[in-house]
Amino acid sequence: MAQNDLSILRHSAAHLAAQAILELYPGTLLTIGPATEEGFFYDFLPPRNLKEEDLHAIEERMHELSKKNYPLKHRDISKDEARALFKNNPFKLEMIDEIPSDMVGLSEQGDFKDLCRGGHVTSTGEIKHFKLLGLSGSYWRADKSKQALQRIHGTAFFTAEELSAFEKHQEDLLQYDHRRLGKQLDYFSLHDDAAGFPFFHPKGQQIIMTLMAYMRQLHKEYDYKEIATPTVLNADLWRRSGHYHHYKENMYFSEIDGTQYAIKPMNCPGAFLIFGHHPRSYRELPLKLAEFGHVHRFELSGVLHGLLRVRAFTIDDTHIFCTLEQVEQEILKILEIAFRVLKKCDFTSINLAVSTRPAKSMGSDAEWKLATKALEDALTKFGQPFAIQEGEGAFYGPKIEIVIKDAMGRAWQTGTVQVDFFQAQNFDLTYVSAEGKQERPVIIHQAIYGSLERFFAILLEHYKGHLPFWLAPVQIRILTITEGQDAYAQDLYARLKKEGMRVEVDLSSDKITSKVKSAQLAKIPWMLVVGNKEVEAGTVSIRYADGKQELGVSLDVLLKKAHELNAV
Ligand SMILES: [Zn+2]
Ligand SMILES: [Zn+2]
Repeated sequence: MAQNDLSILRHSAAHLAAQAILELYPGTLLTIGPATEEGFFYDFLPPRNLKEEDLHAIEERMHELSKKNYPLKHRDISKDEARALFKNNPFKLEMIDEIPSDMVGLSEQGDFKDLCRGGHVTSTGEIKHFKLLGLSGSYWRADKSKQALQRIHGTAFFTAEELSAFEKHQEDLLQYDHRRLGKQLDYFSLHDDAAGFPFFHPKGQQIIMTLMAYMRQLHKEYDYKEIATPTVLNADLWRRSGHYHHYKENMYFSEIDGTQYAIKPMNCPGAFLIFGHHPRSYRELPLKLAEFGHVHRFELSGVLHGLLRVRAFTIDDTHIFCTLEQVEQEILKILEIAFRVLKKCDFTSINLAVSTRPAKSMGSDAEWKLATKALEDALTKFGQPFAIQEGEGAFYGPKIEIVIKDAMGRAWQTGTVQVDFFQAQNFDLTYVSAEGKQERPVIIHQAIYGSLERFFAILLEHYKGHLPFWLAPVQIRILTITEGQDAYAQDLYARLKKEGMRVEVDLSSDKITSKVKSAQLAKIPWMLVVGNKEVEAGTVSIRYADGKQELGVSLDVLLKKAHELNAV
């Protein structure tokens, strides 16, 4: 079925919801009820505030109205007739006044009438597979100064199978929400004492550190050098970078020695100061400076969402200073790194897009053209298809956005690569060319994870809490069957720890079944079960998180397998 047909069905379902509400709560004033990407909503002003508990009755009534199979009739009536029909509804009267033609559309099903321009199914019997999803607040005309309304959300499909697939998906989203998993697994918490600033518990922090360690290995392989720059910098610096002008509303300010300072919302200026600290030669280029920079950005409290939308986060931020000729090869390498990282994290759908010059931006058209072309040429050579997003670039340059789709089909923008011709001018950065002339470097801003905190949340949901061996905070737990294996288990524990594995040992007097259960709840990838048989043979039995087992595995085989999984 075409999307258009689905919109028609969903908009018709909105009318059905409105009819049910009006029958159950006479005196309700209806406003509008459009179809949306996910389903539909209807905004209304009820005689008393409806609650979530009321949804069941509304849904029941909708099913009754569907069974009655009223034809959906549509006709045009004069504005006067419409005004008389909706004389008690100021919202509809306002809409009637705004319609430019003399006639307005009237939709009817049974004795229910609604003002509407049309686009419906032919009878209420066609609307069978629907579900009400919730109630929320809204305002007339989406304007906070106007009448507060209630909004009912729902969705509708053509078949029962589509509806149940949707319901299963909704359950998954709820069950594998990173906020829920983070609490269950004791990974992180959020506190009212620091709204929007997450707290990482030991296991959660271990995951962040593993992500960093992996990126550091790649940085080493690709000749990046790590730096660290201050969190608080003079406001003048942010005036020079343009952030003060373009980004002030999202920055936190402070005062030191009577001078205005800002908490960094980005790491770029720190890297620029290091590059500019002493004269540079073309022989040093490309110079790749990497930083795990902790940045702070103001967000309204209403938009904060777990680790996905926070007020402080860490970026795997790198700045590459290079010549114009080197831009293409450097971007190719960045794309190579990005694809390695994302494939290691089992993302199979990776999409690329080039964002071009926005309305609010620095520099000339010629410079923007040159930078945009360099990005497009590199992408073409890389051989992955890419989209163009007109006007979506940063104020200082065009960028490549990397968008992944997770296991639940949701799209996330993670990495970015930006080519920047302007900041080298703002910060008066130069190098001496082979001909002995002062030249401006091109700067490439690169982030693969983007926000580590956000990437962590995406991974947690993507894996439904079951992080792979290399990333799991505890990779292995040794489980003894009786205390007779304690000494062997402790030896094994010491050996695995020495080999760099993140390992725990469960020597409690619990039964083996409950030890297995507790390791499964903690979502530990490998359980090593040791009984007398294993002690005698000097082996272990591996029980994997997915329930599969391998019996009588030697320590050498175990270590080989573990090291392979940990490798970059
Ligand atoms: Zn309609
Ligand atoms: Zn930057």
